[in-house]
Amino acid sequence: MVGFDEQLGRDLDETRDAGLWRELREIESAQSARIKFGGREFINFSSNDYLGLAAHPALGRAVREAVEQFGVGSGASRLICGSLQPHHELESALAKWQGTEAALVFSTGFAAAQGVLTSLLGLGDVVILDKKAHASMIDAAKLSGATLRVFRHNDLENLEKLLQWAADRGGRVLVASESVFSMDGDHAPLAGIVELKERYGAWLMLDEAHAVGLYGPLGQGLAAADGLGERIEIRMGTLGKAAGAAGGFVCGSRQLIDLLVNKARSFIFSTAPSPAVSAAACAGVELIQSAEGKALRQQLWQRVDELRLGAGSIGWETPAEPSAILPLIVGGEAKAVATMDRLREAGFFIPAIRYPTVPRNEARLRVTLSASHSVGDVQQLVNALGQAVTR
Ligand SMILES: *Cc1c(COP(=O)(O)O)cnc(C)c1O
Repeated sequence: MVGFDEQLGRDLDETRDAGLWRELREIESAQSARIKFGGREFINFSSNDYLGLAAHPALGRAVREAVEQFGVGSGASRLICGSLQPHHELESALAKWQGTEAALVFSTGFAAAQGVLTSLLGLGDVVILDKKAHASMIDAAKLSGATLRVFRHNDLENLEKLLQWAADRGGRVLVASESVFSMDGDHAPLAGIVELKERYGAWLMLDEAHAVGLYGPLGQGLAAADGLGERIEIRMGTLGKAAGAAGGFVCGSRQLIDLLVNKARSFIFSTAPSPAVSAAACAGVELIQSAEGKALRQQLWQRVDELRLGAGSIGWETPAEPSAILPLIVGGEAKAVATMDRLREAGFFIPAIRYPTVPRNEARLRVTLSASHSVGDVQQLVNALGQAVTR
């Protein structure tokens, strides 16, 4: 008989041999353009804290005030006695910001995706996902019991074929995509997707995790920037990236939110988020819409321009649409890790993204920018990339 740890050890050896070993690092500082670990400081190009709100004093203040009044733990699920004032204030703020009738907050974006797809779909329905849709949507789609179909990344023709096929079958049909894709920062062809799902009577769930805070007049996301918000049934996002706190949200009609409150198991059977965290998220959402938020967005887009220009000048291909995410495709898993290590040596923290997050032999460095980076940070990075990256 092979023992438990021995069996797990074999699994781990396979992972290690494939160059896919992962481990946690203990970060000894707040989240910002500089992070400390192993007693050393690095310029951080790996965070999703796009506007630098994760350590912003206004969010810290909101936490302290909420703790004073509501304590730390929420004590129960929302439907028992855990639905505290900060949760409701946050939901009102989200609905107002996104221009929807209502909004609902989950503990994480991952839980939000799970709640939506399992509540809306079941056996006999169809869910059509973009090939590069986030793991949270893939897992949720599988869990829903609906038939899962995948369309080629951002390929409207392929999507239309699947919509035709699904319409003939009967049942509900839901299309799910990210607006700005998490690994490469490329944009979904939103206008085309909206037009198609309307033509075939399908619904659309749009995950704005990497767009919220960055696009649109008040940072609402890409749907708002493209004037498509009102035509999308389900808009979701996270409060853990540009909003600087934690939690997931869904915005839509009153009917949608009522349905989720009644059916979404990841909402019903889970302790409500800490009121302090929801208060911080609310402060983040307010900040995003303020003059300061607008200035932070401008700063971020300047850094993005500088990096795109710099990376382009040393031969990297940059995506067509600007985003805070710049993927530098390296190729093999081991090579990506070696490059990451060289950059680490030079004082830059940039993660290598490998299989299974991206396909095999498409390992990449995923550089993310924040409004808290300086011109000098970006310049230093471009110089280091020129030296450290072999292609
Ligand atoms: C991060 C992310 C999520 C999950 O949000 P969390 O709040 O971190 O659980 C969902 N979708 C996408 C595209 C993401 O990048």
